[in-house]
Amino acid sequence: MKKKILITGGAGFIGSHVVRLFVNKYPEYQIVNLDALTYAGNLENLKDIDSKPNYTFVKGDITNLEFVTELFKDFQFDGVLHLAAESHVDRSISDPLAFITTNIVGTVNLLNAAKEIWKDNMEGKRFYHISTDEVYGSLGETGKFLETTPYDPRSPYSASKASSDHLVRAYFHTYNMPVVLSNCSNNYGANQFPEKLIPLVINNIKNSKPLPIYGKGENVRDWLFVEDHALAIDMIYHKGKTGETYNIGGNNEWTNIDLVRKLCDIMDKKLNQKIGTSQKLITFVKDRAGHDLRYAIDATKIKNELGWEPSIQFEEGFEQTIDWYLENTNWLENILSGDYEKYYEQQYDKR
Ligand code: NAD
Repeated sequence: MKKKILITGGAGFIGSHVVRLFVNKYPEYQIVNLDALTYAGNLENLKDIDSKPNYTFVKGDITNLEFVTELFKDFQFDGVLHLAAESHVDRSISDPLAFITTNIVGTVNLLNAAKEIWKDNMEGKRFYHISTDEVYGSLGETGKFLETTPYDPRSPYSASKASSDHLVRAYFHTYNMPVVLSNCSNNYGANQFPEKLIPLVINNIKNSKPLPIYGKGENVRDWLFVEDHALAIDMIYHKGKTGETYNIGGNNEWTNIDLVRKLCDIMDKKLNQKIGTSQKLITFVKDRAGHDLRYAIDATKIKNELGWEPSIQFEEGFEQTIDWYLENTNWLENILSGDYEKYYEQQYDKR
């Protein structure tokens, strides 16, 4: 019988790349994508694989315990890759409770449902929680996050992810749940909701709108191509040691302002504009509350234990990403509907 794998949040940015990879690479698995299709979920992200026989989509909310319990009883999953989350730091500042509900309560619902169906035999089962480097807090100018770095979350988003990480580990120690975790740096690539820096800047340049940059743009992030993250997730799901955590990163640090300037120059070339045209749109706005200065990942453990390293050079992945947003205008236009426009105005236009 085919192994049944649940991927939560598969209609979102990273989840869609993970679902595609698993559906194409493992015809011997039945992949079930559970997603509530919030503002960030979009089935268009998966239209190339949605008729594959080993793929099933289920619309549902991980915060609904009754629904989650029934789903696990019906499908008897062998494994779970949990990516569903509220993922945008700015939204967590304006509405923390949504993050607590989805990221913490939703994760516990999945853990409980898995524990119940696996209680007699955990052999060959796996619960994989996909998390963020933001749980470690903020670095100064030097140093990198290790798996042993103490947690120090600063935003409601990172605090909710830290809490869910702790709960997943608690289920390992308390109930012997076969868990594995990873904490990854910032991802870039196709299918990312345009409230996040890179697609937001691309879209605003296209529409000659201001490019809002928090503070002085000095915050540093480590950027990883989303398809490389998906490959790391595949490797950790299949080869990671139970109970362990793996840091995933691109070894590719950029200040926000340098990244945006680079993006502006590439966009000018692609739009046949004079170099410097897009940079004129850069607008510094009031800094995000509690804005972490720097994140950087030490990904030695995953390299040494599992042999994973980023495979795509930043220059190549970045160019490919920009081309994707320029080519997929319908995707962007469909997303930039009423609700998002309202949110965007609240966030930036009144500063
Ligand atoms: P995303 O916001 O693009 O997608 C999240 C998906 O979860 C959406 O499809 C949404 O519909 C779904 N979802 C939200 N609430 C749900 C609920 N209650 N029930 C069912 N589905 C629900 O997020 P993303 O950027 O793809 O991130 C995916 C995961 O990876 C998250 O757990 C995030 O914390 C983690 N992560 C993201 C990054 C990054 O750079 N984007 C980096 C490291 C880790």
